[in-house]
Order: sequence, then structure tokens, then C-alpha cells
Amino acid sequence: MDRESASTDAKQARAIPVTVIPGDGVGPEIVRSATRIIDAAGVPIAWEEALAGAEVFRRGDSSGVPHETRDSIERTRVVLKGPLETPVGFGEKSANVTLRKLFETYANVRPARELPGVPTRYSGEGIDMIIVRENLEDLYAGIEHLETPDVAQGLKIITRKGSEKIIRYAFELARREGRSKVTCATKANIMKLTEGMFKHVFEEMAPEYPEIQAEHLIIDNVAHQMVKNPTQFDVIVTTNLNGDIISDLASGLVGGLGFASSGNYGDGIAIFEAVHGSAPKYAGKDVINPTALILSSVMMLRYLGQSAAADAIEQAVLVTLEEGRAVTQDLARQTGGDVEHAASTTGFTDQVIANLGRQPASVPVSVRVSDASVERRPEWTYGPERYAGIARELVGVDVMIESDLSAEALGDELSGMGGDALRLAMLESRGTKVYPPSGLTVDSVRWYRGRFVAAEGRALTEADLVGLLGRISERHRWTEVLRLQSFDGEPGFTKAQGE
Ligand code: NAP
Repeated sequence: MDRESASTDAKQARAIPVTVIPGDGVGPEIVRSATRIIDAAGVPIAWEEALAGAEVFRRGDSSGVPHETRDSIERTRVVLKGPLETPVGFGEKSANVTLRKLFETYANVRPARELPGVPTRYSGEGIDMIIVRENLEDLYAGIEHLETPDVAQGLKIITRKGSEKIIRYAFELARREGRSKVTCATKANIMKLTEGMFKHVFEEMAPEYPEIQAEHLIIDNVAHQMVKNPTQFDVIVTTNLNGDIISDLASGLVGGLGFASSGNYGDGIAIFEAVHGSAPKYAGKDVINPTALILSSVMMLRYLGQSAAADAIEQAVLVTLEEGRAVTQDLARQTGGDVEHAASTTGFTDQVIANLGRQPASVPVSVRVSDASVERRPEWTYGPERYAGIARELVGVDVMIESDLSAEALGDELSGMGGDALRLAMLESRGTKVYPPSGLTVDSVRWYRGRFVAAEGRALTEADLVGLLGRISERHRWTEVLRLQSFDGEPGFTKAQGE
């Protein structure tokens, strides 16, 4: 073996393995940009290229993530990925969501900060916030049912454990990066048990971080405040869907999706990607702005402990933006610049590589987002002992029923079906009480919820529920049954509007 190939072999042996997924649409172009820059910065990475997304769906793999890709990620535990197309329609799940779930990357971290050379309505104000989005639960659990041919229902799942993990993550991140405030953003005023649980956990944990200001804002107000006065935000922690929406909003404040980076962190595993999708209309044209993925790869290098290279690449991107010699189409369009002669993806990448080693003049500090390798592991308190001590009582049952009857006619019929154990407390339609009649006129969608509660002084048994369902099914089509329980005397269910 000659000396040169021996030294190449030695380098390969030291190289950090990373799974790289080129992805769909513009994915391969932006991934090539990021990997070229990382290679040029001299970081020894052994890229393991793997497939996921549209091509995999087309081959008939309905998960969009083949086994070879899963195996590679199991080995490397770090992924740099391009966007993956999500087929619209029934049957197939998003390969992005599948990846996040498979590897339990529960924390989606999306920084948004003012960038030099990227003028916005807020330029000069110094926007610098990090959105920490819960990444596995909420409506993204993807549990949906057609209750009738024309009534669709999706389940919003929020758990105490999932909330605790992400809220702990947000506070730890704030502490590590010397940030002063964490805002919890929920819709707890409407969704009292789901979003409410997230808010409660936040309030329970906040005192553990006395040096950090903790506040709660309703998510719609967060959207309003972000547009009105975005610099008030530092770290925002929120549930999955809220976080999806406000993180796009946040990227819009600082120049758009072309600049929005993200990391998905789990326990000992992380997936880095741009916030944006596959932007199919730009695919293969060498015009897309690769900054979002380059900055995501900077987050990856910090995660891998390659801080010097991460700083060098981040500084080179900032110099490139600041000097404006290579302005990508999206930025030229935003600033009324020369779109026709804008920099190509390759041209921008070349410029970043040329700027490695230089410092930006206008931005003093690098934002050290998410070196999650120093994450404090939370100590879970979810053993059986926690649950053994909580008293539960069966206090009733909700039965969903498809029916062409009016609320009054259905209510009258159901009233006689409770037997001696249960009585019909109310009937509601889409969350509003319609029986006993309250004078409200509610547009029928042929789907009702009958709430049956235990008759006075009666302890309910399973047989009572089964008996009720038997009687209802003789005359009506029931679609779903939910037990009504109390936990330590507190009702584990919400009331209908007007109940
Ligand atoms: P998108 O791909 O993010 O593109 C929407 C628009 O955002 C583009 O038309 C473009 O705006 C702008 N844009 C996105 N990336 C840009 C970049 N790097 N530089 C400059 N501008 C950029 O959203 P979509 O069209 O709704 O989704 C397309 C596909 O991507 C879908 O299949 C979706 O499911 C998937 N997706 C994947 C991920 C992921 O992999 N994590 C995330 C989101 C969406 P202009 O038209 O104004 O130029």
C-alpha cells in the first residue's frame, strides 16, 4: 500500500459516519451543497447515502423509508436529509413523520434569527428566537377515522411524558445557551385536557429553572405578537401543530424558508433538515437557495462536537450573505434585485466555500444552537408506582351515533335506553349540547354524541356499558364508545358547550 492511500484509509477510519438522504425535488441539490461545504471545511465525515421518499413510495414501499435506510440510521445515529415529498391522499404516511417517529426524535428545534444581507421588515431589530416543537404527538399521531361517510375525526394525543420531555428540553436548551426566557404557546383555553396538560407540565417545571423567565401565551396571540414585536421572543416551546405553523411564520420574519434550518433530536439520535419542502417547481434547475440546509448542517456539526468547523461554516455563510456577491433568486426577488442574474445553487455554494476562514463584519456572535450531545437526560417518573396511587372511577360513557333523526327525536329514544344504571345526560352535535333542547338551532351533520352518566348512587360495571350498547344497537348505528372516568375524583373528560 502506498503512503497516500494508507493515509486516506486512516482518515476514513477516523471519519464520523453520517447517513445522508438526498430526498426529493430540490433535495439532491441542497444536500450536495451542504456536503461539499462540509467536505471543504475538512470535517472527516463518511457519508452513507440512503434513500427515502417519493422514489421509495413509487417502488411500492408504503412507509417511504426502506429497511436499508433504517439500518444505516441505526448504525450512524445521525442523518442529514433533503426534503421528502408527501403523497397527498389516502393510505400513505409522510416519510418525514415516519422517520421522526421511527427514531423517536421528539424535539424539533427551529432557530430563526436576523441574518446580515437579508433585508426584512424587521431588519435591525435583532430577531433571535428558537422554536422548540414537540415532534411526535398531537394530531401528527395520524389517528383518524371516518365516523360516517361524511364525518371525519382525528385524535389529538398529548401525553404528560411527551410534554415533560420537550419542555425539559426547551428549558435545558435555554439554560445551555444563556437565554433568558421560555414562552410556552398553547391553545389551553379551548383544549383544556390536551393543550391544558402541556401548559400544566410547563408550569410545574418552570420553578426548576429560576434564572429563566417562564411565560405562557395562547398560540393565536403568539402569532399576533410574533408579527407585531418578534424580538420579545427568545425560546418558544409548543405542541406539534402549533410549532409547525409558528416556525414557518418565524422563518417568514427573517427572510423566508430559504433560510430556515432545523434539527430533530431524540435520545442519542438526530436528524437535520431544512424546514422547507421539496419545492418541486425548482427541482433540477440549480436555482434554489441552499442556506437552510447548510445552516441545518451547522447544527449537525455542533451535535457531532465539530464546533470549530460549525463556526467556520456558519461564519462563511454569514460573510456570503453580508457581502451579497452571490444572491440567490429568492432573495433577489424579495429585495427587488436582479433575479435573472441571481446566483445559482452551485454558485452560492462555491462562494461559501471561498469564504471559509473569514469572519462577518456585522454579526458579532455565532448562535450556538443545539449542541444536544450535552443534553441532560431527564429522569422519568412514570413507573407503575405513579399509576397505582391514582384512584379511577367509571362514571359514564359517551356513545357516538350516526342518525338521520332530529336531536329531539333521537334524545327521546335514547332516554329510555339507559336501564337502571345509566341516564342520558345530554346529546351533543360537534361539541354543542342539543338535547335536552336548549333553544339553539344546530345544523345537523347526522352524527351525535350521547352522554350517559351513572344513575344516582349507582356504581357502574362493564355489564352496564355492554347492556347499553346492546340496546342502542338494536335501533341505531353507534360508531364509537368512550368511557368517562374520573381520576382522584377529577373528571377526565370535558363538558359540551352549553352542558
Ligand atoms: P415547499 O417545498 O417548502 O415550497 C413552498 C415554497 O417555499 C416554494 O415554492 C418557494 O416559494 C419557497 N421555498 C421553499 N424552499 C425554498 C428554498 N430553499 N429557497 C427559496 N425558496 C424556497 O412546500 P410545498 O410546495 O408545500 O411542499 C412540496 C413538497 O414538500 C410536499 O410534498 C410536502 O409534503 C413536502 N414537504 C417536505 C418537508 C420535509 O421533508 N421536511 C417539509 C415540508 C414539505 P416561491 O414559490 O415563492 O418561490
